[in-house]
Amino acid sequence: MMTERLLTTMVPGLDAMYKPVDLVQRPTPLSRESSLAACWQLADLWIKRDDLSSPVYGGSKVRNLEYFFGDAISKGASSVATMGPLGSHQVLATATFGRLNGLHTRALLTPQPNVHEAGLNQRLLPALGMEFLRCERFIDVPLAFLRIRYQRHQGQRPYWIPPGSHHPIGVLGVIEGALEIAAAIRNGELPMVDDIVVPTGTCATAAGVWLGIAMAGLPIRTVPVRMVPMMITGPGKMKKLAMKTLALLRQAGYTAEPQFGEILWVDDFAGPGYGQGNADAEQAARDVAQAENSSNFRTETTYIAKTLAMFRHQTLRGRRVLFWNTYSAVDPDPSTLTAKVAA
Ligand SMILES: *Cc1c(COP(=O)(O)O)cnc(C)c1O
Repeated sequence: MMTERLLTTMVPGLDAMYKPVDLVQRPTPLSRESSLAACWQLADLWIKRDDLSSPVYGGSKVRNLEYFFGDAISKGASSVATMGPLGSHQVLATATFGRLNGLHTRALLTPQPNVHEAGLNQRLLPALGMEFLRCERFIDVPLAFLRIRYQRHQGQRPYWIPPGSHHPIGVLGVIEGALEIAAAIRNGELPMVDDIVVPTGTCATAAGVWLGIAMAGLPIRTVPVRMVPMMITGPGKMKKLAMKTLALLRQAGYTAEPQFGEILWVDDFAGPGYGQGNADAEQAARDVAQAENSSNFRTETTYIAKTLAMFRHQTLRGRRVLFWNTYSAVDPDPSTLTAKVAA
């Protein structure tokens, strides 16, 4: 039995608007990483284990999908569509949880250098029953986009989930995670921290963390570490998305004033390009794998290892840090998912 959402307790009108579905095992655990903290000269290091957000397939996108799926289902949609690069976790999460929730799924895949996730998606998406178009060249994207987004499925246009879940509805699920952190601090499970570090793409996750911590009234700094080209993200976009999300909460009856904390937006660790690793990131991944008394969580190239590489530099030296682990601890297994649907 799931406990009630902390966000629902704060904004009771919200569930009537979006009817969120339960996908996340709430609250996700917290683990302390003392030897990594010592290795990276941090005063303290905790991990928000959103890698364990679901035993089926975890990571940050599961939180976004709770409200998107709820909205889609309550609007009578039988199909959902999205897009992302070839190795997109959002596309894989949509295929996985769409299957579990009886929704037809569709996606457009855009070109990306060959990483583990790209091979994974190529293998898993067909097995999960997703309908997808894979573009080898960017020039092919616009036409494919029109087909994925607008072609009817069973007489209806699919419900659209924007790339990266960069939309206020997607941010709502992330706020819940931030409120879980605030609750853990209040009940003594987590000591106060200075910074929450968020591997950042479209900044939907960072916007939700920043807004959620502000709603909880905690003076914690949000540290988004950019991993995608500047063109599609940035602190301005992050604040704007948080404000749009706040406007949506206002519509649902939220009247309190969030106490916004500082943002330290970090641009220095995205090189040499999206999905491409570097030596610092490889060393940071080895630090995690070799740490003693550690959860030795999985790292990957596109977001996690390159964000952790920041800790090998002086940026946050001496600070009490919470790292928001956005990358799933497990890959989905289509054979067990089929069994669940049949059961
Ligand atoms: C999508 C994703 C991110 C980036 O999230 P945004 O909300 O787009 O900034 C970070 N890490 C992982 C593992 C992801 O899949």
